[in-house]
Amino acid sequence: MKFTVNDRCIGCALCTSINAEVFEMSGEGVAFVKKQPDEGVLTAKATEAMEACPVDAIEKH
Ligand code: SF4
Repeated sequence: MKFTVNDRCIGCALCTSINAEVFEMSGEGVAFVKKQPDEGVLTAKATEAMEACPVDAIEKH
């Protein structure tokens, strides 16, 4: 399972507030995946962040 952030990100920071262990804001004001989650709670919270993203910028592969 691999999460990525695509170029639709508008920098709202919602994903980082849901899962700061996986998502972080870059200096350019967009989110990126700083650490791929292991299976378990971090993956569940990363999926929750993906579903909460207002512009569908988070993808799970
Ligand atoms: S929730 Fe979506 S739009 Fe907001 S910072 Fe995260 S990836 Fe970007």
